[in-house]
Order: sequence, then structure tokens, then C-alpha cells
Amino acid sequence: MAKKGRVFSGARPTGRQHLGNYLGAIQNYVALQDDYECVYCIVDVHALTTVETTENLQENTLEMAIDWLAAGIRPEETIVFVQSHVPQVMELHTYLSMVSPLGKLTDLPTFKDMVRYHPDNVNYGMVGYPVLMTADIVLYKSDIVPVGIDQAPHLEFAREIVRSFNYRYNTKVLIEPQVKHTEVLKVLGIDGKEKMSKSLNNHIELASTPEETVKRVREMVTDPARMRRTDPGNPDVCNVFSMHKLFSAQEEVDMINAECRKAGIGCVDCKLRFANNLNKHLEPFRARRAELEAKSNYIQDVLDDGAKRAQTIAEKTMEEVRDAIQLPRKK
Ligand code: SF4
Repeated sequence: MAKKGRVFSGARPTGRQHLGNYLGAIQNYVALQDDYECVYCIVDVHALTTVETTENLQENTLEMAIDWLAAGIRPEETIVFVQSHVPQVMELHTYLSMVSPLGKLTDLPTFKDMVRYHPDNVNYGMVGYPVLMTADIVLYKSDIVPVGIDQAPHLEFAREIVRSFNYRYNTKVLIEPQVKHTEVLKVLGIDGKEKMSKSLNNHIELASTPEETVKRVREMVTDPARMRRTDPGNPDVCNVFSMHKLFSAQEEVDMINAECRKAGIGCVDCKLRFANNLNKHLEPFRARRAELEAKSNYIQDVLDDGAKRAQTIAEKTMEEVRDAIQLPRKK
């Protein structure tokens, strides 16, 4: 079946993925493959703007890639690669930086957030982050970028840079990417307060053992007003219930919804039911992950092959870009 266009998306190498990554991004990555030619990039260079140590960069990259593949990303058709393996992106970033107004870059919410969270390391790379992001997207002539509603302003900025470049050099070589709004589920961590995140240690890893998963689910915060087993609870404010809605059969969700309100079910039982359903849901993922892990060098080979395919597209774009700028040719 003919594909509708090319999708690009990138994610920082954060190692083993958790439920929040899965529900918020990976699931969508997998689904997009049916309709689009997909290019998925592990953005290790972006990570350098804020990481304190690069010690685990290699391991985190491989762990993340293996989770993507185990979840259903198909490397035979989808290009999966590491950002730094295609150095053309750095070159394009430099050219795009010349048409990116500094005032706008420092005004973007992401830059302000980075300054707020890393006040001791406000670096040049942070300012240029959206420019590098634009280079990532346009280098592969991507038509579509899936983003949540909160990311839309950054895509609009990317489109502006593309227009500025094309205008300045009187060319149509760069394509303005279109936004594909995706419903990004905000998954709360086991603390029931913050977004699920590794750095907050409130996450549930996809690759955990079933026992570890049960242990983690047992730690989940429920309706804070329900102090005793005999107190009626309110599923509407309970994160365990939100998870049930995603992983449990409708009948069970309805039962919990009704029973919790009259103290007919206890939180321990409720959590165990969720943990069991989650483990069942993740069974095929975990089996596939084990299979991939058993193949020595497989993930590295996939990433190398992805980089080769990405480079082919990238170099072609760069030839057009250099010509459009009228950079002096070499023999
Ligand atoms: S019974 Fe379930 S839904 Fe109700 S408060 Fe406890 S964990 Fe939450």
C-alpha cells in the first residue's frame, strides 16, 4: 500500500523505557508505520545540552532501541538510527542557524525551561536546540511530525526557519513539515502526582520482571482520602483506576468503579488486578525483548543500517542545500 508521506520523530536516549514512554510515544510510533514511511531518531546530540555525564549514553541508546523494536517498530521498513551517526545534521544546523533570529530562540518556552532547570549550565547548545531540531526534521524531507499540543509552537518555529531559509536563498529545497496532532497521554507516575519519569523514580519499566512490576504497582498512591479498607474511595482521583482504564477489560473497570465507591473492593486487591493485567499486556513485549537480546549485535546492526539509510537521504538533501546557498563547489 502506498504510504501517505514521511514521518520524523526523535527522542533522547533515556535507556529502558517506561509505561509513560510507551503510552505517550512508542505506541503511536508503532501505529504510524502502517500509513507512513517513518524515520525515528535517537537524539544523542540533543541529550548533550543537559546531561551531566555521557557515561551511559551508549548503553541507554541500545536499551531504548531494543525497547522500541520489542514494542513493534519494524526496522526493515522504518529507519531507526542515532542522530550523531549522520553528521550532515550538524552542517545543516549551522546553515539554519544563520536564518534563525536569536531573540525568538531565547523567547521560546523550552529555552526558558532549560535555563530554569539547569541554571549552572546555560550553554549555547540550549539556545540552538530548536534549530538542531529543525535540521533533524528537514534533513530527511519529512512531511509530518507527530507532536502533542504543547509541542506545536516548536514545530511552528521550525516551519518559520524553513520559510526563512527558502526565502533567503530563493529556493524550495526545504519542506515545511506539517504537524500531526497526536493525543499524548499524560501518564502519572506511581506517586500519583508527577508525570511518570525515570529521573523522579516514579516509573514502571516495560522490561521489568512480572514480580518487579507487582512490587512497583503495590507502591502506587491511590485516593489519598481513603485511609482504611472500610472507607469508600473515589476512583476519579485515583491513578490506579486511570491505569485500569488503559489495561483492564471494561467489565472489570466498571466493577472497580462501582465497588470502590462503596468500599466493596480494597486497594491491595485493586492494585494486584491492575498489575496482573499489565503483566499480561506486556508479556509479548517482554518475550520479544528477550529474543532480541539473545541475538548478539542485532541492535547495533539495526542502528548501523538505519544510519546508512538515513545518510543516503541526508546527503542528497545537503547537496541541494549547498547548491541553494551557492557555496563554492569543490572538485
Ligand atoms: S480501590 Fe482501586 S480505584 Fe479505588 S482507591 Fe483503591 S486503588 Fe483506587
